[in-house]
Amino acid sequence: MAPPRAAKAPRAATAPQAPNAGGVTAAAGQAAGMPVVSSESMLGLKRRARRINRALAEKYPYAHAELDFRNPFELLVATVLSAQTTDVTVNQITPLLFARYPDPRSMAEADPATIEEIIKPTGFFRAKTRSLVALCTRLVDEYNGVVPGRLEDLVTLPGVGRKTANVVLGNAFGVPGITVDTHFGRLARRFGWTQSEDPVQIEYDVAELFEKRDWTMLSHRVVFHGRRVCHSRKPACGACPVANWCPSYGMGETDPAKAAKLLKYELAPGNEALLAQLLAETYRAAEIRMESQKRTR
Ligand code: SF4
Repeated sequence: MAPPRAAKAPRAATAPQAPNAGGVTAAAGQAAGMPVVSSESMLGLKRRARRINRALAEKYPYAHAELDFRNPFELLVATVLSAQTTDVTVNQITPLLFARYPDPRSMAEADPATIEEIIKPTGFFRAKTRSLVALCTRLVDEYNGVVPGRLEDLVTLPGVGRKTANVVLGNAFGVPGITVDTHFGRLARRFGWTQSEDPVQIEYDVAELFEKRDWTMLSHRVVFHGRRVCHSRKPACGACPVANWCPSYGMGETDPAKAAKLLKYELAPGNEALLAQLLAETYRAAEIRMESQKRTR
């Protein structure tokens, strides 16, 4: 489902900056948090964006949805639970939650106090319980207990916005979608793919730059990169695989040794064994995801 045609924000240019190693105009407008590349044509922007995507694909061949799920219902619930908490926390509680309530009907009829107890570690557990019960009740009443596979239906469900809908479509239904969370929005602006703060506008701007079939994996890669390298406060520019094509290069630490210390998760110093394991398992992980998607069709 293509994002709606919204008014397009102009891609304004700023004063030229010194080019970085890749010949891309370097960091600009960082104080305003809005880097742009001066005089870059739409074609140039597209090429640069796709080059970044290819580099991210090489760096994170194991990128995937970090929430555990076995079907669209589980992914929908897990995504609702992931608000204001980490995917790791959600993954810790969902096995018990889905063992007790494996489908929308059982969750709609659940004792809210029991759900609250199970999901407590994810925070905002009372509001999330209300959302889940309302969501499941609507699924039972309107969709015969089946999660719909269309964006226009998903966004009518209680507590489900475009981000959640695109996560479910892209990962449980195989329908390409761009998932704009806080990491994706920040990186899209740093890459100069958009200047907007509005998630729907960002989705529209980025959709223009890529083939539809690339949208879902692009989303995973950008979010992976945001969590591991291009942090909100201290981006590790000196250890960044897309530095050559990033107009924001220089807004973070550029010294390679110092930047390497800022890396997180499997890229963090000392985690080489974990990285090697992830790379080795990449092929198998892709197989598992494809099998999971086939089962849900
Ligand atoms: S870490 Fe630096 S060079 Fe890399 S994407 Fe972020 S701002 Fe750009």
